Amino acid sequence: MTRGSTVNPDSPVFNPKKFLATERDNSKINITQLNHFLESTPENSRLVRSLIDQIVNDPILKTQTNYYDNEILKEREQTLKKIARLSLYMEQDIKTVRHSFRNKDLLKSLQDEQENANTLTNKDISIFDKRLSLIAMIDPQLSTRVGVHLGLFGNCIKGNGTDEQIKYWLQTKGALFIKGIYGCFAMTELGHGSNVAQMQTTATYNPEDDTFIINTPNLTATKWWIGGAAHSATHSVAYCRLIVNGKDYGVKTFVVPLRNITTFDLLPGISIGDLGKKMGRDGIDNGWIQYKNVVIPREYMLSRFTKVVKDPQTGVPTVKTQPQLDQISGYSALLSGRVNMVMDSFRFGSRFTTIATRYAVGRQQFANTKDSPETQLINYPLHQYRLIPQIAITYLISPVAFDLLDNYYTTLEELYTASSNKSSSASLDLVSKKLKNLFVDSAALKATNTWLVAQLIDELRQSCGGHGYSQYNGFGKGYNDWVVQCTWEGDNNILSLTAAKSIVKKFVDAALKGKYNSSLDEHSFDYLNPTNIMKIMSTSSSPYFEFKEGGGEDDNQDYRTIWGVMLVKLIAHIAKQIRKTNDPDMMSKSLVMVSKFHSIQLMLKCFETKLNNKKTSDPKTREILWKLYKLFSLYFIDKHSGEFQQFKILKPDQVTNVIQKKLLQLLPEIRTECIALTDAFKLPDEVLNAPIGYYDGDIYQNYFNEIIQNNPVEKTEAGKPPYVDLLLKTLHRGYTFDEALGGSSDSSILEKLSK
Ligand SMILES: Cc1cc2nc3c(=O)[nH]c(=O)nc-3n(C[C@H](O)[C@H](O)[C@H](O)COP(=O)(O)OP(=O)(O)OC[C@H]3O[C@@H](n4cnc5c(N)ncnc54)[C@H](O)[C@@H]3O)c2cc1C
Repeated sequence: MTRGSTVNPDSPVFNPKKFLATERDNSKINITQLNHFLESTPENSRLVRSLIDQIVNDPILKTQTNYYDNEILKEREQTLKKIARLSLYMEQDIKTVRHSFRNKDLLKSLQDEQENANTLTNKDISIFDKRLSLIAMIDPQLSTRVGVHLGLFGNCIKGNGTDEQIKYWLQTKGALFIKGIYGCFAMTELGHGSNVAQMQTTATYNPEDDTFIINTPNLTATKWWIGGAAHSATHSVAYCRLIVNGKDYGVKTFVVPLRNITTFDLLPGISIGDLGKKMGRDGIDNGWIQYKNVVIPREYMLSRFTKVVKDPQTGVPTVKTQPQLDQISGYSALLSGRVNMVMDSFRFGSRFTTIATRYAVGRQQFANTKDSPETQLINYPLHQYRLIPQIAITYLISPVAFDLLDNYYTTLEELYTASSNKSSSASLDLVSKKLKNLFVDSAALKATNTWLVAQLIDELRQSCGGHGYSQYNGFGKGYNDWVVQCTWEGDNNILSLTAAKSIVKKFVDAALKGKYNSSLDEHSFDYLNPTNIMKIMSTSSSPYFEFKEGGGEDDNQDYRTIWGVMLVKLIAHIAKQIRKTNDPDMMSKSLVMVSKFHSIQLMLKCFETKLNNKKTSDPKTREILWKLYKLFSLYFIDKHSGEFQQFKILKPDQVTNVIQKKLLQLLPEIRTECIALTDAFKLPDEVLNAPIGYYDGDIYQNYFNEIIQNNPVEKTEAGKPPYVDLLLKTLHRGYTFDEALGGSSDSSILEKLSK
């Protein structure tokens, strides 16, 4: 059988293309408006389309189904080829933002040490950031391998370095342009990951020659998992204990060179090894590092918030810190990754919901009667329950992801300004509070959404049956690549606990001391407004929640308000238990729930705010978006109906007659637009990279083509395997079994033995 001859186009049964076309013909919603809603603005939507177009048509960056068959070394080499290509796009993207393609070369002037004023800004790299974020959906190992260098190494320097250090390492040395040096982020050790404060690597100040000596004191202090260390990094930012005059000042950050930048030889005192094959993302060269008496100049310590200064007269070193910001500066390197992972959740969710929805519409299984055609999967209520809430989840992630990204950029700008020497203590205080709120939101949203998408990929894989298990439909590699997002840059459970503990503290401050800063807290924590807490906790008000039934858009807010009620009651319970036992760890299970519920209410709020700005004007399109909003809320209320009853927010019959009833009503209503809703992500086939999900819906033909393209029939010599000799030997072995075991089945011999 050859390409193009597998499916009879006139077949009355299997014509998935026709099904998809019919769905599109019957759709009543406006896909362009939906896409603008999802991509935040029409301008952004255009930019995203043009970047995707460039990526998928680039001869080196494009990713096809043969990518799923790669060996580890091939993956690493191919990833590096793509990085080389991307670095050219980066130069072009910076020049595009600055409209600087003529006269003096912009990159050269940015790298020139003399031109101090010419500093690269976040805006300069905004197009490239977006490009990288889109690549994360197509080839996640590529975006991470670059992301470790730019995001972790670069942001650690940006977050902890002085203005001069930032300029030196990132511009003059070229790190931000992927030139000159390549960085890795050496925080985790063999013995400690989440518990950063216990890292064991030391940086001991030596006043005699004004240097630090970096050491790995024992095996468990070996830096472990370090992306880029095994092959590509020339420099590390190392998290080490600062030791001055024998005193331990805790973990700080240092730039420690690893390899000679011309020959790539390891520098004296550096040992490095490869961590080999992982569950996914093998294109990243994760490695281990040990430092043995490595000497670096004092100036290589990143000193924005803490520095070692020598008294010019006595030569005695002292450690100076900005305590307000030093404590939170550690967050900043990891913040960017967490914020981006929320956007990755939207992109990954959109990729896999598109594939599974098209498959569900095109695939038929079982007929109601002997003569009727088999039923499309999407028409089974169970299939709708498995698939459509995943579309709602993806839609709800988008507005919060854009909101978080904006918030991140604004707060970081304020941090840079405030931490320059001229700022008052009041402005330092304000920015540190904003940063703490951002930390809570990004931690809770990163954990909740990366978990949701891990479940989404597997649920949707199963919804595609056996074909979902084929490597060529992307779910396998997608899942393996994805799930590390639940672990790295803050393990999800740890992040949820940390975020929730801060939320509980805010609750206690608001409930007991009336402390609530509306300008700071209104955005994410409006449910903690003391008046709201009082209303919910007051014994006179009815404990049970009633949804308004007016049907107007204003009434939709109930679907979020109920989560505020849940949060207040749950947190009040946690706070009471902690007061009794003085042991927050006993409440960890509930604390993780607080982080999840906080995220759910924030996702609803950002979605609602965006829809209320009325930029999406088409009534049918607004209607479907509100349905997704309600479905998202109801789906999770139903999943947590135990807690809603435990805290007397819903009665058991409300769960049956309101929540589950509304949920089951919404599914078939949204089903009618499921193809339009996923088409609105506007992901070309090259991004989906899964033939059962291609736009034309020709599931069987497309899938068959990819299988034979990647496993050509000719290669196997008309069906003979390369190990045919062994196969033949096995099948045609002689009757030598007993001889081989050192015995015999010859009965005359056996008789002799029994005498
Ligand atoms: C592919 C990959 C790439 C990586 N790249 C880098 C890199 O480039 N640079 C770098 O520095 N690091 C990197 N890491 C390390 C990563 O950031 C850590 O693995 C992560 O922070 C978790 O730390 P850990 O592995 O030590 O887990 P642990 O901290 O040992 O946690 C193990 C489990 O115990 C639970 N747990 C721990 N403490 C508590 C507690 N107090 N209460 C309840 N539960 C708890 C956690 O939730 C987790 O489930 C990478 C990891 C991977 C897998």
